[in-house]
Amino acid sequence: AEAYALEIERLRTTSNIAAVVAHEIRNPMTAITGFVQMMNNDSANPYSPFTQIMESEITNINQIVTDFLVLSKPTLHQSSSFSVIETIQEVIDEFCGKFNKREITCHLHRINQNPVLLGNKASLKQVFFNILTNSCEAIDHNGQIDITFSLTDETLCIFIQDDGNGMDEPTLAAIYQPFFSTKEHGTGLGMLISKKIIVDHKGTLEVESLQGAWTKVIIHLPLSNDSLH
Ligand code: ADP
Ligand code: MG
Repeated sequence: AEAYALEIERLRTTSNIAAVVAHEIRNPMTAITGFVQMMNNDSANPYSPFTQIMESEITNINQIVTDFLVLSKPTLHQSSSFSVIETIQEVIDEFCGKFNKREITCHLHRINQNPVLLGNKASLKQVFFNILTNSCEAIDHNGQIDITFSLTDETLCIFIQDDGNGMDEPTLAAIYQPFFSTKEHGTGLGMLISKKIIVDHKGTLEVESLQGAWTKVIIHLPLSNDSLH
């Protein structure tokens, strides 16, 4: 429990720094992005190979800044009541093309109840987007992702399991570290952001994995009393 409190405290510090950095970088980046795009739209641009690389690198920077802004924003300032299972279904539908391209099947195992959460729907979608992205990236050719639920009195448990490459112990221990990534083009912010959003909802996020076999993400979300429909 003490280690968990430390982790949360580290998250808060990271978020504060993130807020400052993201705001300072965002405005100048908007100007640079605009000018580089203008150069690339000019067919007479003599620096074309270089400015095209600039545009793609700028896209990477903008992605990191966007991730940092998510980290720095209070999650619950825009709360509403929504169905968690339907929200996950929406993310899966948006993912459909990515699944098909890689021969990945994703099964959402519905339950009889339709638990409703009071929280930030866009943020929750971001969490499932991040987790499904990681699962897809962990699957080499074809594979399967299973999403299952268990509902106790006031808590919804969500299990997202893939049969991808899994992680060894040191990797598993490092997944919430800012910028930790084992991927060539990874930002290493996806799991940190997901953890932050779930903690903001007073929930917990845990990951279990067996290298070469599977990874399982376990999310506990507290629901309000009148959440069963
Ligand atoms: P990124 O995806 O940009 O690398 P993340 O924060 O999303 O950053 O993930 C951090 C690291 O955790 C990944 O680089 C990967 O090594 C590991 N990881 C996360 N999810 C999975 C998964 N489902 N299967 C295997 N490894 C994973
Ligand atoms: Mg990721």
